[in-house]
Amino acid sequence: MNRAHAPRVLSIAGTDPTGGAGMHADLKAISAMGGYGMAVVTALVAQNTCGVRSVHVPPVSFLREQLDAVSDDVVIDAVKIGMLADADIIATVRGWLDNVRPPLVVLDPVMVATSGDRLLDASAEGALRELCRVADLITPNLPELAVLAETAEAADWHQAVSQARQVSRDLGTTVLLKGGHLTGADAPDALVDARPDPAVPGGYAEAHAPRVATTCTHGTGCTISSAMATRIAAGDTWPQALERVKAWLTRALTAAADLEVGQGHGPVDH
Ligand code: PLP
Repeated sequence: MNRAHAPRVLSIAGTDPTGGAGMHADLKAISAMGGYGMAVVTALVAQNTCGVRSVHVPPVSFLREQLDAVSDDVVIDAVKIGMLADADIIATVRGWLDNVRPPLVVLDPVMVATSGDRLLDASAEGALRELCRVADLITPNLPELAVLAETAEAADWHQAVSQARQVSRDLGTTVLLKGGHLTGADAPDALVDARPDPAVPGGYAEAHAPRVATTCTHGTGCTISSAMATRIAAGDTWPQALERVKAWLTRALTAAADLEVGQGHGPVDH
């Protein structure tokens, strides 16, 4: 696919006023990967690199107005979904997706921030699991993968791959497995698809990079999912997109310390 224009990528996500996570990270990642970024806000989050202070959820009628305002006017090439906060927001986004049917949906099943603060009501985990069925690609971290697989968190790469296979089969989606949470010198990422007719040739593609020793990892999940949505919408094959995003994110993590943003887990250098 060769497009004359940059892919138009919509982020549906929460906010981070320090600019490292949520829709702010999404917009930076979409731009860095050559896309045109747009954003609909699900929840306003008073947070910084040290943690979440409070969350304000606007009425879902206003969320629907934001979504319709974009789709009534702009052709959307890809959607990236991040923080959804509660079951009403999930239902509203689901209703809009069923209506608009964007060609590519990448879902980051955000549940708990690295700081330990909840970004999704625990009672909405089942609804988020169901939403995964309408996503082409999901990008859970290992704790989120365990919730989706309804089992304990994977202790090693082998266990993580088998959980990703189960989730892919059960929910009918491709899983981007991120090795960053595991210990070891190498931190592979992989696309896992256990369906009979997988979106990824052979159902498995891996990308490798040396582990970057840094505590500046705030918003990495938001960043990787938006970057993947942009590169796939730009016409990369899924394994090409993974290779390119992994190489870029490794550079962004390496450069993160020089940003000197905040006193907690700083952002990556988009
Ligand atoms: N804030 C928002 C709005 C998010 O969407 C996310 C994750 O997706 C986070 C914070 C979590 O950031 P992290 O766990 O990388 O610190």
